[in-house]
Amino acid sequence: IGAEDAQYVASLIRTTPDFPKPGIHFRDFTPIMTDARALRLMLVALERTLPVPADQIDLVAGLEARGFLMGPALAAHLGKGFVPVRKAGKLPPETLKQSYALEYGTASIEIETEAVRDGQRVLIVDDLIATGGTAAAAAKLVELAGGKVAGFSFVMELQGLDGRAQLGDYPVTALTEMP
Ligand code: AMP
Repeated sequence: IGAEDAQYVASLIRTTPDFPKPGIHFRDFTPIMTDARALRLMLVALERTLPVPADQIDLVAGLEARGFLMGPALAAHLGKGFVPVRKAGKLPPETLKQSYALEYGTASIEIETEAVRDGQRVLIVDDLIATGGTAAAAAKLVELAGGKVAGFSFVMELQGLDGRAQLGDYPVTALTEMP
């Protein structure tokens, strides 16, 4: 998409200072989802900036919750299936679980054991990468399930946190960087 269209899409990202706690600038991309033209442009931009060619992707995996908004839309746009990566405790067994560090404490995410077939190449998507901890845990889950991580696509990347360093050698793309 052109620079003007990219600027239009990025302009819809809504920033709320000090939410959910002081010092955090909450970046919400859902106004893009609400705007028909912006949603279409975002999907085209994500497709054009895929970290690997689309024919090297078998499945799209999205992270709860905002990865559930963009993930299925992108999967359908690419002609792929979608796998939800859920917060712990929401799925019935059989699941695989992975814990990761938060600023304070830990969190866990889960995937259905049967959701990924052996050797399937999985694109992991989320609205935003900050420290990279969530995305790195999702990559471990995909591998535990027998899949291969094709790469990562994000709408937003927070600067200065070096989240990509958590993602090893996997290819990563983000549509826009934000402070
Ligand atoms: P991290 O594991 O640190 O990369 O955090 C990424 C996850 O936390 C994503 O699922 C984001 O939706 C959410 N997140 C982290 N920081 C922000 C922020 N400033 N604004 C909105 N969402 C955020």
